[in-house]
This record gives sequence, structure tokens and C-alpha cells, in this order.
Amino acid sequence: MPVLRSAFIALSKNRVLRNFCENTRFGRRMSSRFVAGMEIGDALRVAEALNHQGMLVTLDSLGESVSSEAEAHSAAQIYHQLLDWIGAHKLNANISVKLTQMGLELSPQLAEDIALGLTEHAQAKGSFVRIDMEDSSLTQVTLDIVRRIHAQPALRGTIGIVIQAYLFRSKADIEQLVAGGIRVRLCKGAYKEPAEVAFPGKADVDKNYIQLSKMLLESPFYHGLATHDDAMIAAAKAFATEHGIDPGRFEFQMLYGVRRELQRSLVKEGYNVRVYVPFGREWYPYFMRRLAERPANVLFLAKNFFRS
Ligand SMILES: Cc1cc2nc3c(=O)[nH]c(=O)nc-3n(C[C@H](O)[C@H](O)[C@H](O)COP(=O)(O)OP(=O)(O)OC[C@H]3O[C@@H](n4cnc5c(N)ncnc54)[C@H](O)[C@@H]3O)c2cc1C
Repeated sequence: MPVLRSAFIALSKNRVLRNFCENTRFGRRMSSRFVAGMEIGDALRVAEALNHQGMLVTLDSLGESVSSEAEAHSAAQIYHQLLDWIGAHKLNANISVKLTQMGLELSPQLAEDIALGLTEHAQAKGSFVRIDMEDSSLTQVTLDIVRRIHAQPALRGTIGIVIQAYLFRSKADIEQLVAGGIRVRLCKGAYKEPAEVAFPGKADVDKNYIQLSKMLLESPFYHGLATHDDAMIAAAKAFATEHGIDPGRFEFQMLYGVRRELQRSLVKEGYNVRVYVPFGREWYPYFMRRLAERPANVLFLAKNFFRS
């Protein structure tokens, strides 16, 4: 793993820096490139604007690893409000949820109960719950929870998962998920993983990403390919064209504020594009992972910061 990437991932866990950044105007101004705002209303305004530009949205209320049951329930409450808004304002949007924010590390049963409640609510509003994938110590428990909820006949198709191409296990996981009809978001993976479980080199991750995306495109279910990488996107487009797969049968997914021109041009070409819109006061770990993906973003942010 390149040194800068490791450094930013390590910094994403630094409490002192996190406190400073999240609680100063300077920090909030920096984060605004990748975070829709601090409040629910900011996220909904952004979602409406993106829908207006022909893009789909997934909303992420930022926060990870809560330390009490009450905190998990209040994090879930924000998602329930989002689902009500999505229904009331007919937004073309769904929600992305981290199970650690729903109390997974306190009690897997608590996280499962909360995820179940959110999926039932999403079903009632005609929306969808995407469970984000976190570090590899949580992969199996996350898969188990999603599978159990998806097994309830009324909730089939209302909950989906994320698979990370950097993990060795992902091909087998995708085979099982596709056999069960569970919708997958494929991404490369954003955490620091040991060499026993993940490909250390980018070339191997990319190769695996292309292989796994073909498996998803060939399956009869609607999946998401989350990437900003031109090579991954070109490979998916070429495979879909070669195999007569209609662009309406899958979607590309990208992060808010990242490669906006590319997002717009894919929409113009007739592809479905979903933008992942994070919001909230606990933006620091998310923001640092974005810098880890592309350390050049630090220069980019600094230039814009001093210009504005
Ligand atoms: C919608 C969505 C949801 C995600 N959900 C998860 C999840 O649940 N779990 C998880 O582990 N990871 C998640 N990720 C993050 C993902 O795993 C990668 O870390 C991230 O997408 C970067 O990989 P990439 O495919 O864009 O390719 P990379 O090889 O990292 O980058 C390819 C090119 O894309 C551009 N690019 C990439 N990142 C940025 C950036 N931050 N700023 C500007 N340009 C950039 C650059 O031009 C770069 O050269 C998600 C990503 C997206 C888009």
C-alpha cells in the first residue's frame, strides 16, 4: 500500500485531529467538496438537484462505530426521516447504511433489528437500503445480516450489499449473492487490509474488479458498479455492448464531488448514474478516506480553499 494512502488511513482514526477538524469552520469549509452539508436539509437539497440533472442518489448520514444503544437508535432515526422525505418528495433516492453506526460492534442483534426496521420502512416507501461494507473483520457478519433480512419474502429486493474487489473472498461471495438474487454494489475497497485477505497491488485489484463486474453484468439482477476509474468503466461498457446488456440493467455509482464531469457525461450517454451523497457532522473519517484514495486531492482542496 503506498505510503501516503496508509498515512491518510491512519490519520482517519486520529481523535485529536478529528475533533479539531469537525469542530472548526476551517475544517467544515474543507469538507464541503465531498460532503453535502451538516444537516439533513442540505442533503435533500443536493439530492433534488442531482435528480434534476438525471442522476439517482444514495444518502449517507455520516457516522461510524457508535458507543451506546441509544446512539445507534438515534443514528437510525435520521435514516427513518430520510425515508419519509424520499417518499414525501418523490426523490429518486435510497439510503446507504453502515452497520457499525447501527451498533454492530455492541451487539450484532441490535444492528440486525435496526437494519430490519429500516428495510421494512424502505419497502413501504418504495425505496431501498444499501448496507455499506466496512473492514474485513466485519465482512461475514454483514453478509449474514443482509442475507437473513433479504430472506424475508416481503423484503426481497429491498436490501442490498457492497462487495470489495480487493478481498480474495469476493468472487465466492458474489457467486452466492447472485444465486440468492441479492443486489450488489461493487467497489475496490477503502480500508487498510492485511495481505492475508486482500490483494496488496492496484493491478490485481483492478483485474479482479473487472472480472467481478462481468459476473454482475451477466446476472439477471440490477447491480451497481461503484468506481471513478476510466478503465473500469470502459471495461464494463465494452462488456455490456458485446453481450447486448441494456444500459438500463445496471448503474454506475460515484461519490459526491468526485469526477463530476464524468458523472454528467455518462448520463448524457444514457447510463444510469447514482451519486453517493454523504452529510452530517461526523464527516472526518469519510473525508480522510477520500484523501487516501487520491492524495492529490489535498493540493486540489488547498488551491480552491485559498482561492475562495
Ligand atoms: C458510490 C460508492 C460507494 C462506496 N462504498 C464503499 C463501501 O461500502 N465500502 C468500501 O470499502 N468502499 C466504498 N467505496 C470506496 C471504494 O472502495 C474506493 O475506495 C473508491 O471508489 C476509489 O476507487 P476507484 O474505483 O474510484 O478507483 P481508484 O483506482 O482509487 O481511482 C481511479 C481514478 O479515479 C479518480 N478518483 C478516485 N478516487 C477519487 C477521489 N477521492 N477524488 C478524486 N478522484 C478520484 C482518480 O482519477 C483516480 O486516478 C465506495 C465508492 C463509491 C464510488
